[in-house]
Amino acid sequence: MNEPAVILLIEDEIQIRRFVRSALEDEGHQVLECGTLKPSMAHVHAAKPQLAILDLGLPDGDGIDFIRELHTHSEMPVLVLSARSSEGDKIRALDAGADDYLTKPFSIGELLARVRALLRRNKAAPAELMFRFGEVAVDLVQRLVTRNGDVVHLTPIEYRLLCAMLANVGKVMTYRHLLRAVWGNSHIESNHYLRIYVSHLRQKLENDPTQPKHFLTETGVGYRFNI
Ligand code: CA
Repeated sequence: MNEPAVILLIEDEIQIRRFVRSALEDEGHQVLECGTLKPSMAHVHAAKPQLAILDLGLPDGDGIDFIRELHTHSEMPVLVLSARSSEGDKIRALDAGADDYLTKPFSIGELLARVRALLRRNKAAPAELMFRFGEVAVDLVQRLVTRNGDVVHLTPIEYRLLCAMLANVGKVMTYRHLLRAVWGNSHIESNHYLRIYVSHLRQKLENDPTQPKHFLTETGVGYRFNI
């Protein structure tokens, strides 16, 4: 269970707002509600929330503009909750700096799980140098990856891709983000490279590469890495 957090909820549909608010409060969180964008930034400055849950279609503007403005001065994670379900919409929000994306209608259990993941990640953020998932341990200082205690050999590209994912645990990473992190700007259209290298990582690090638990596909958008 997470420690209680202050969560900013920006949503113009009052029923969804009530429903989400009461679920978050049941988890012990404090919720600041906004039905429009305008007062939201003031809440960010005044209350320093640890997370924002953000609708995109709002009466006074587009949530994507809020994300862009927010990230000029804040690292607060943003979970987008939107009826816009196309891959293009998701990619636009994620590229603007959203950390995760949930499409309406959504299950409250899934929303709460994503909230927990983002709050955990934000807390662990600054300098985690040792990661464990499944039977795998990754030591970023020694650049050493082991599985059940045995050293796993990764190529430099596989290792860079793994590090890019470890830096974004629980977060959806677009193809573009990962390609840039691993190859720089030269291959940002080469999604098939990623498919190949993610499949290498699954082969080497997942118990069942055909049913991955850690290196997850976000169809049409990118990948998510879960511890
Ligand atoms: Ca709306």
